[in-house]
Amino acid sequence: MIIGPDEFYQCPRCGNVLRRGSLVSGNTFGATRYTDGYMYASMYHQFPLLVKCDKCESMLWIEDMEQLTYNIEADYDPAEDPRLEHLEEVDFPEIPDLVRALTTALDFSREDVSQRLFYIRRSIWWKFNDKNRYGSSAPSYGTLDELELWADNCMAMLKLLEPRVEKKEPDACCIAIELRRNLCQFDEARKLARETLTDDDYKSYLRTTLLECDARNPLTARIMKEDDEEEEKWIRMRIALSRADQKRMATPQCILDQAATNETLAENAFEFYLTLAEHGDPETLLFVGKLYLTDHFYDLERACHYLLRSAWLGNTEAMDKLEEYGAEAREGEWDAWV
Ligand SMILES: [Zn+2]
Repeated sequence: MIIGPDEFYQCPRCGNVLRRGSLVSGNTFGATRYTDGYMYASMYHQFPLLVKCDKCESMLWIEDMEQLTYNIEADYDPAEDPRLEHLEEVDFPEIPDLVRALTTALDFSREDVSQRLFYIRRSIWWKFNDKNRYGSSAPSYGTLDELELWADNCMAMLKLLEPRVEKKEPDACCIAIELRRNLCQFDEARKLARETLTDDDYKSYLRTTLLECDARNPLTARIMKEDDEEEEKWIRMRIALSRADQKRMATPQCILDQAATNETLAENAFEFYLTLAEHGDPETLLFVGKLYLTDHFYDLERACHYLLRSAWLGNTEAMDKLEEYGAEAREGEWDAWV
């Protein structure tokens, strides 16, 4: 990998100078690819196309900004300018800034506005997926607001992809399949994958996503390499576990019918959490218990079921919540709840 010279750009709103790295050449040898299209390659450094001005906080497209370049007549080289020496390099923006960019950084008169819109939405999606990209099965979001933002973003991406999916463009289909899986629509994901990914280039992706659908895993996964037997063994074990869990699991009653704003969203979200909870993570079990204690999803018995499972695994907040709601977590009473 050959790193290029730093690039300097001027913020059109406040005049602040931003520094971004560049790449002369790189390669994707040994890269790790994920089912959401994200790729990590140690020899292929990637740079953001949309950045935040650290002075006025404007969200700015690199290609729209004036680049400060070497000026022979003025004998000016920004890389040599002592005022710019200690500038921090701009990084990929965080979720709140990306959300702001949806309303502040899109010019709908531009021909490429849909590509830019998709870039922002995919960046939001990747940021959420980053939270469990490296093996954690914790939920990507801690609050209901974040959950709603995440799900709305997934739905909006599916809508944007519709025309390309209709034309069966494989790259667009891969993203749509992943979004369906994220939303726990495993059957739809499986069907779309089988129908559209017939080319050999997508063999590894297809194999991975079908296995993950069987495992009812809604989280983004690493695409298996051809000969990755360990990974396949691990996924097959998860499939067995999830089937066993489904049998033990009480049928989730849809108490979300009254969801006032968006019924589908609420159902998908709830299904998503229930599936995640079956991985047995005490924090997720606690979260589902707490969801059942909100006015919107209120069901004390089910709340206690999840809180007890979380408490069993040593979660003290779940124990406190159980006491608060009058269910004594005494051994003899557990059977009544679980
Ligand atoms: Zn600025």
